[in-house]
Amino acid sequence: MVHLISGAAGFIGSHLCDRLVVDGETVIGFDNLITGSRRNLVQLEGHTRFRFVEFDATQSIVFTEKFDHVWHLASLASPKEYLAHPIETLESGSTATRNMLEISRRDGARFLLTSTSECYGDPLEHPQVETYWGNVNPVGPRSCYDESKRYAEALTMAYHRFHGVRTNIARIFNTYGPRMALKDGRVVPAFLDQALHGEPLTIFGDGTQTRSFCYVSDLVDGLVRLASSEERYPVNLGNPVELTILQFAEAIQRLMDSKLSLVTEPLPQDDPRKRRPDISKAKRVLDWEPKVPLEQGLRETLAYFKSVAAA
Ligand code: UDP
Repeated sequence: MVHLISGAAGFIGSHLCDRLVVDGETVIGFDNLITGSRRNLVQLEGHTRFRFVEFDATQSIVFTEKFDHVWHLASLASPKEYLAHPIETLESGSTATRNMLEISRRDGARFLLTSTSECYGDPLEHPQVETYWGNVNPVGPRSCYDESKRYAEALTMAYHRFHGVRTNIARIFNTYGPRMALKDGRVVPAFLDQALHGEPLTIFGDGTQTRSFCYVSDLVDGLVRLASSEERYPVNLGNPVELTILQFAEAIQRLMDSKLSLVTEPLPQDDPRKRRPDISKAKRVLDWEPKVPLEQGLRETLAYFKSVAAA
């Protein structure tokens, strides 16, 4: 099978490339490197079944190969990055999604969209089930991300219904692991970076907001299962273990075996109060659930950040 992956040099994209190459597949990965990094793919350099191209998914098709699977991961995924690049973020959900869907249509290839739990916005239902339509502020600062992913889902369903493309949509909840960018502002790299430098952990707001953190290998396993399923409607992929941000700070303190101080910063506008996936559908349809406990995943991630700091 030949796979095309946008966002291949990103955090999740690079792990997906690794997994597919290990599975014996041929992968062409591309990335515009706005937030992705060539360093995330050094382990695949020179591999006979892997090729990297620096290319922007919002540009029209240049690929002459015929693909069996098209994976659209390219996006600015951290609030800090998408707030800094709102137009590019909207383009990756709209123009880039259309370009990738067109390749799928041209080749009769399967298509997978990595969507997001942000489709639920600041949810009024808890935990979030795929049938919940969400509570998104369409003109707030986060809307460039939330609405672009909601549009991408609508476009994907339209290509399925109108052109018969075999599509899948993953709604990804907070994911963490090695190759996250240390300075991308998300809570996992932020706290680990602060802990490594002996700085106080920055709690936004009162820290009672919740998130549920999924380790990247679990997430990639869910994506691979979804890509070969016949489920056309969105499927939540995430870890249902829910923590307040204060509890997450405690987990970092246990990991570092030290009492790190905390400092409070203002809560960003429209920051969701709660987030936890209902993964009944993923269990039923994909026979999938996360396996890596938070402590183990955080140890692996910390080891990665230490190795980057030492390099
Ligand atoms: N957060 C925090 N301190 C930080 C970074 C983030 O308290 O240094 C909070 C943020 O306000 C949010 C949660 O942690 O409630 C997760 O934020 P992140 O940016 O990782 O992802 P989000 O789920 O908001 O997209």
